[in-house]
Amino acid sequence: MSKLVIRDVRTILTAPEGICLVVVKVETSEPGLYGLGCATFTQRPLAVQSAVDDYLKPFLVGKDPARIQDIWMSSYVNSYWRGGPVLNNAISGVDMALWDIKGKLAGMPLYELFGGKCREGAAVYRHAYGRDVVELVENVRRFMEQGYHYIRCQVGPYGGLKPRRRAPENALPGAYYDPEGYARSVPAMFEHVRGAVGYDVELLHDVHERLPAVEAVRLAKRLEPFHLFFLEDPLAPEEIEWFETLRAQCATPIAMGELFTHPAQWKPLVASRLIDFIRVHISAIGGLTPALKLAALCEAFGVRTAWHGPGDVSPVGHAANVHLDVSALNFGVQEWSGISERLAEVFPGSPVVRDGYVYPSE
Ligand code: MG
Repeated sequence: MSKLVIRDVRTILTAPEGICLVVVKVETSEPGLYGLGCATFTQRPLAVQSAVDDYLKPFLVGKDPARIQDIWMSSYVNSYWRGGPVLNNAISGVDMALWDIKGKLAGMPLYELFGGKCREGAAVYRHAYGRDVVELVENVRRFMEQGYHYIRCQVGPYGGLKPRRRAPENALPGAYYDPEGYARSVPAMFEHVRGAVGYDVELLHDVHERLPAVEAVRLAKRLEPFHLFFLEDPLAPEEIEWFETLRAQCATPIAMGELFTHPAQWKPLVASRLIDFIRVHISAIGGLTPALKLAALCEAFGVRTAWHGPGDVSPVGHAANVHLDVSALNFGVQEWSGISERLAEVFPGSPVVRDGYVYPSE
């Protein structure tokens, strides 16, 4: 029998729900044996497509698909200037696909290759929105009735409702924020929601990096009485030095990392125990291989995982998240945006949620 090699690498672009998803398919010399990986950078899908089809494919065709670590590192340094969401997503598409191939060769789901299950399903958090607190409470109650125990609460879009002030005359069209007004609205929102639904449910909130750093510190302090499960992305990645101040000022649990793409960003936060949850977008850091290392690093410092799981992760990426979730001792919670019927039609075998838990596809 001739040795198994990578025969083809290609991107598949699809948008069943209007969100551009990028999936990489790695085919091997064995007919029918292929792997899929998520490479979704929904804001720059064509750049990722070019990185895969024009650069990684010629580099990888003919290589041994079993050598995941070696392929990851050589792909990473192959461009000399490395890292960033475009190149990392491209590598992730290949990396997840190689893990998929290894699982198929072993005849095992990935969580077995990661050390086996330590839980049957992964608890998920859902996104509850409202145009006002009354509508928000209705939506929180609806998720609670559906069996969810972790619910993220937001009024209006990220950054809150309309600014309190008018823009100056002749202001250019665009999004205008009111960071102070937004920050002041959040404790009031939680006071209302806690008053309505009590404390037998875990509540979360996403700042989405929309505040000046000192305002984020002030907000985290004011949220302490409402006992959040975590406050998500309170600071921009450019402001990581502020986490020390944030930690010293209050005990609101902090989840961080949606925009991280490099270990230099998370290492100091994890090693100094300045965050409680790591929540990177796994394809943006380069796939399962670096995510396994990051999860192990976090475990050593008591930081739990909460991998990014919005609509701009393909179902292939959600599946990768769930296999990590069920096999990581330091799993915290999984963000879950839902997989619609239309998405499931394009991606058969997607993980499913029942009563607040997501289960991996075998
Ligand atoms: Mg977020």
